[in-house]
Amino acid sequence: MRISMDDAEKLWDEPLAELGRLADAAKRDRHGDVVTYIKTYYLNVTNVCKYACKYCGFRRNVDDSDAYTLSIDQVAAKLTHSPEQLTEVWMSSGLNPALKFEFYEDLLRTIRQVVPQATIKGFTAVEIDFFATHFALPVEEVIERLIAAGLGRIPAGGAEIFDLAIRKKIDIKTRPERYLQIHRLFHERGLPTSVTMLFGHVEQRTHRLKHLQTIRDFQDQGGGFQAIIPLAYQDQNNPLAKRGIRGPSPVEILKTLAISRIFLDNVPHVQSFWVDSGEETTQISLHFGVDDINGTLIEENIAHESGAGTATYQSSAALQDWIRGAGFVPQERDASFQYLSHDA
Ligand code: SF4
Repeated sequence: MRISMDDAEKLWDEPLAELGRLADAAKRDRHGDVVTYIKTYYLNVTNVCKYACKYCGFRRNVDDSDAYTLSIDQVAAKLTHSPEQLTEVWMSSGLNPALKFEFYEDLLRTIRQVVPQATIKGFTAVEIDFFATHFALPVEEVIERLIAAGLGRIPAGGAEIFDLAIRKKIDIKTRPERYLQIHRLFHERGLPTSVTMLFGHVEQRTHRLKHLQTIRDFQDQGGGFQAIIPLAYQDQNNPLAKRGIRGPSPVEILKTLAISRIFLDNVPHVQSFWVDSGEETTQISLHFGVDDINGTLIEENIAHESGAGTATYQSSAALQDWIRGAGFVPQERDASFQYLSHDA
């Protein structure tokens, strides 16, 4: 049953166990006791970025001593030596004005050659927006050329928090309407996507609910989001952290995940991104409406550079153990959330 914004506001004050019970019931209605994961490699091709989002500890100026841009050969070598047989190659990077559009096309073609079985999920809406502006190309042409070179999906990242007053305090990048427009262009091409929500920084709970309301409305209008990925703000090495803004507590993370599940009756999947949420909180979150824990996340950098204290890779066997240990049934999936094999 759909709940109103007023009802959602009241959920924050529910006892934690009751909130978990409500979210778990909503999750089980859709997915039973199954929890999914994917074998995925997280590539960050360059950390050079023209922007300086206040929650980001990953970006560098081009002349910083630890600025980097991987060559296509270096990317190929990383994927060749992946510790898992990959189902997905996920890719997001800084907005580096020195790179040519052809570099990205060549990159996609090479990845397809190296791991032909994997779906390439690359370039957030923020990066697509940057390509269109920086290379003076219509956004539709950017998308068509990337798909022709091998792009299969785009990642969810870049939604942050949709409230403009909050966004003006934390970044100047792609605004909500543009983010949603770009995702809709993929949906119209039959390519579903997911959507993030960065929380626990300078926003309030009510901004999170408005963010969820925007997503629910978008879905009602034919949107193709498959998953919501609430991302817990990381509080190291970034300008907000330097001002003393601390990240959300485990309880706040669990409440946010649970309310996302209860409120979003038209988004199938709720994901806990274990790198940000933490391994233990992610395991507990399976009782708070979460049905997907992303995956192996080989070499994730962005959250770690902003303070995530989690590992930079979890094997698929370890992920299965987490899921079983929490009392659920592990299920490997592909980039479209289709089941690949039965592990239970
Ligand atoms: S979040 Fe992305 S766009 Fe913003 S500074 Fe970091 S790398 Fe650049």
